Amino acid sequence: MTPSRTSTRRKVLISGASIAGPALAHWLHRAGFEVTVVEKAGALRAGGYPIDIRGTATEVVRRMGILPELRDAHTDTRRYTFLDADGRTVAALDGHAVAGGEEGPDLEVRRGDLATSLYALVRDDVEFLFDDSIDTLDESEQGVVGVTFRSGRQRTFDLLVGADGMHSRTRASVFGPEEQFHRYLGHCFAIFTMPNSFGLSHELTMWNVPGKAAALYAVGDDDRLHGFLSFHQPEPPSAALRNPDVQRDLVGAVFADARWEVPGMVDAMREADDLFFDTVGQIRMPHWSSGRVALVGDAAYAPSFLTGQGSSLALVGAYMLANALATNRDHATAFAAYERRTREFVAENQALVDTGGATLFPTTAGALEQRNARLRKLDTMPSATARPAYSALRLPKVAPTR
Ligand SMILES: Cc1cc2nc3c(=O)[nH]c(=O)nc-3n(C[C@H](O)[C@H](O)[C@H](O)COP(=O)(O)OP(=O)(O)OC[C@H]3O[C@@H](n4cnc5c(N)ncnc54)[C@H](O)[C@@H]3O)c2cc1C
Repeated sequence: MTPSRTSTRRKVLISGASIAGPALAHWLHRAGFEVTVVEKAGALRAGGYPIDIRGTATEVVRRMGILPELRDAHTDTRRYTFLDADGRTVAALDGHAVAGGEEGPDLEVRRGDLATSLYALVRDDVEFLFDDSIDTLDESEQGVVGVTFRSGRQRTFDLLVGADGMHSRTRASVFGPEEQFHRYLGHCFAIFTMPNSFGLSHELTMWNVPGKAAALYAVGDDDRLHGFLSFHQPEPPSAALRNPDVQRDLVGAVFADARWEVPGMVDAMREADDLFFDTVGQIRMPHWSSGRVALVGDAAYAPSFLTGQGSSLALVGAYMLANALATNRDHATAFAAYERRTREFVAENQALVDTGGATLFPTTAGALEQRNARLRKLDTMPSATARPAYSALRLPKVAPTR
């Protein structure tokens, strides 16, 4: 679908086709916008680690009509087992008790399954430019954003939205370097796939010593599983961030003396062709828009995987931004409304980092013992009680349609 020059529909370019991008594309298309999505990868990224959809975000996917297929794709993790340094069981928790509280069960799906469902919703209505990205932006011409793509094509749009993730280039080019918005949370992690030679199925097994964690996550019955190695590091390892060889050496050195299955995991990490290494951090910005450019999802307010809320914030943020644009013709008013109505929800969910998953990665022996004592006492995880942050936002009743 090529945008027509004579079209009076407002043209929006979205950078990034993962969760926030296609979700926003869906709602904006329904609201009558002409939408183009540019994605630097050659195709939609499939597969991937499991993510959760909870609270208000569940209502968003219900309104999109994809809740039934996401329920079918639910990974149904049945058991969480926590191990000590020698691989002895500290606690084993029933997955059904862990996922979801008073509001009903959480949805846990592979990130790629969610992205695929969102893409399938919009691919016939929205223009997708894969294997391309924004090279330069020009806001000097009145009323439009001029974009030159890496491929050389040049286009103009009424608005641009960066949905290009934690390390957003859109954010860097409009708001400045990432450092000023990145809140480092003191941990680094490596995630990769490896052979499931352990016979694990629908379960997560996590080994901890103070400041280090290793997990085997068998999302289904597959012959491969997700290996996860995370460690406390007071300062972000800047040298490692752009160099996979340095990342592998760093992780190898940190886990050199570890017991249980960790040596085999480190070997698998060294072999993996899908290693994903990053710092654990959040994006916190004073504003999510500037001129005709706005940010959504991780690009604007990544909460870190310690909250388990990144995808949910991306879905809810996309809905709120589309709603604001659909109900306010003036983009500045719309961006202000998006921010005003969404910021508290984002802040509450980012704050989960101090109480939620972070407590699964204690950095001192005392804190680890306290966590283990809590786990031993529990039939359910602490988070299985009511979690108002997930549901703290009431969606505008009217879906963003015209
Ligand atoms: C190990 C791990 C575990 C996680 N667990 C959970 C969980 O349990 N629950 C949860 O809710 N969230 C979880 N998350 C977070 C979740 O994956 C993200 O918060 C969520 O995917 C955010 O979606 P997004 O669309 O904003 O950004 P992303 O998913 O990061 O997508 C950004 C997209 O933009 C593209 N892109 C990047 N740069 C450019 C460019 N210059 N031009 C064009 N395209 C570009 C990328 O290729 C990508 O497709 C986890 C993350 C990790 C890493």
